[in-house]
Amino acid sequence: MHCPQCNKISIKNGRYKDFQKFKCKNCSLQFSERSLSFFHRHRYPEEIIRNSILFCMFVSTRISKFMLQETLQFKPSHVSIYRWTLKFANHLANLKRSRSFSNIWHVDEKFIRVRGSKDDFAYLWVVIDDKNNMITAHVSLKRDINGAVAALTKANKIAEKPPDILISDGLQAYKKACKKVFGRKTKHFQAHFKTVVKMIGNRLYFLSNNRIESLNSKINLWYKRFRGFKRLATANLWCEMWMHFYNLIRPRVIPHKTISIHAII
Ligand SMILES: [Zn+2]
Repeated sequence: MHCPQCNKISIKNGRYKDFQKFKCKNCSLQFSERSLSFFHRHRYPEEIIRNSILFCMFVSTRISKFMLQETLQFKPSHVSIYRWTLKFANHLANLKRSRSFSNIWHVDEKFIRVRGSKDDFAYLWVVIDDKNNMITAHVSLKRDINGAVAALTKANKIAEKPPDILISDGLQAYKKACKKVFGRKTKHFQAHFKTVVKMIGNRLYFLSNNRIESLNSKINLWYKRFRGFKRLATANLWCEMWMHFYNLIRPRVIPHKTISIHAII
């Protein structure tokens, strides 16, 4: 085992509960196997933390607590579950993952409730590619060109390249935002449920925005449990976490390579 502080080899130094402890010969730092993992300084067993995070992706923290109590006979507070999930959100966001997205993107906006705006109205902008990978999720208070530009800029930064085709619904802001963020090379089309057939170069494309509309229904199922967010920052954080969760862990109808939560933490 290498010391986390000075990276020198350390020696075994007794046990604490189920964990082997180590001591560094160089700087006398004491640490255990768990100190180097996600579960550093947690009192509860790893299984409880993993399960509560997983439950929390589908139901509220209080229901997660109830489910843990009924299945594993552990009773952490709902605030602990909230904090574990927040820690996991940051962990997911920092995880290195492939940034390969296809060259056809879909964008849509969806109404959500965030406290602080007029009538508590806010909009969630979602950008996905045509392989069902979510590229970005962005929450803004207004449904205008600034929101569209912010969402597309974020997507462009994450994917590190603009798409060839961008498909959106009838909102006028997308046309200007697309030109402003991606330049003239990216072609913008408006399509809704009905398929639009376009000839681009010498390839025939069948374009519709059904893909993102079906994703919206999944977001709705997840979002329902919040009954609105208290702040814009919290809304952004949770929506981004759900995006990583959807991309990496959540099983999908169309077969997709996913990672289990055990492999992540
Ligand atoms: Zn050391």
